Amino acid sequence: MVSSKSLKKSPKPEKVKIIQVNVRGFDNNFSYLVIGKNGGAVLIDATGSIEEIEKAIRKNDAKVIFQLVTHSHFDHAGNVNCFIEKGILLKSFEDLKKCPEIEVAGFRIETLFLPGHTSDSVCFLIKNNLFTGDVLFADGTGRADFGGDENEMRASLEKLSAFSKKNPEIIIWPGHNYGGAKAMLKEALEKVTSPAL
Ligand SMILES: [Zn+2]
Repeated sequence: MVSSKSLKKSPKPEKVKIIQVNVRGFDNNFSYLVIGKNGGAVLIDATGSIEEIEKAIRKNDAKVIFQLVTHSHFDHAGNVNCFIEKGILLKSFEDLKKCPEIEVAGFRIETLFLPGHTSDSVCFLIKNNLFTGDVLFADGTGRADFGGDENEMRASLEKLSAFSKKNPEIIIWPGHNYGGAKAMLKEALEKVTSPAL
């Protein structure tokens, strides 16, 4: 006999596929495709080699629904307009402010506002993956002297540190390959030599 408990359908866990595209660009930049249900995908930080991004889209049969950028520096947003022209719209910083949680292709994207590197720096949390742009690399943080603010950076790192303590399993996917293509959030934070941490 089957118990009534086992007949209950448990919700299927969200599954995402992360494609880290080595687009070279300004300085070892990464673009990302996050692919969910039925190939529905989001493109993060379209920059560097358009060819490499398009190759990744084709290879994974991804249907890109919209774009996101971690901040407005040209080496992260360089190809945004090119993909807008191809019909893939961008969720702007203003859009994200209004709506920091987005459901798409069966997964949820949460925007964390972490200014400091620039005033519009955000990180995107998808399951236990954090797309950090220039807020945090495998081996340190982005500089605050290109339109950023040291004090804001310190506050953002404190927030990330508190977040990491509650969520020890988070993996970061940075905007550049500085000291590694990805890292555990906890370990990346340990390498930051900020007096705030
Ligand atoms: Zn930057």
